[in-house]
Amino acid sequence: METLSKEELERFKALITEEYKALLEELRYREQSFIMENQRETGSELSSYANHPAEAASDYANLTMNLNLAERDTKYLKQLEDALDRIERGVYGICVVCKNIIPMVRLEAVPTANKCIECKNEVKRREQEEAKHAV
Ligand SMILES: [Zn+2]
Repeated sequence: METLSKEELERFKALITEEYKALLEELRYREQSFIMENQRETGSELSSYANHPAEAASDYANLTMNLNLAERDTKYLKQLEDALDRIERGVYGICVVCKNIIPMVRLEAVPTANKCIECKNEVKRREQEEAKHAV
């Protein structure tokens, strides 16, 4: 099997860079509005929380939802960074586990993929196995 051609690499690089920039923008925007939201809150009557437990609870739910989203996005951001790094190092499209070439269809579907399907499933299987033992 052949590695990706220069053109294909360039295409993936452009694709991932775009995605990376868009996500960064999105995160920055969300951070900004989150800060503004908080400033507005602290600016108003703080004590009102005590009188509205339901409101405080829904705020808490919003906050945890935001944090969960942020965690997922940060993870994705890392994956995108990693993919760009692998392009730079000339190892993009090669499975980090078995060193086999990751099929083009898989990269098309998941440009940040760093493992072939077999290795990904193997890792997943092992994680599930470990989770079972941990219980
Ligand atoms: Zn593999």
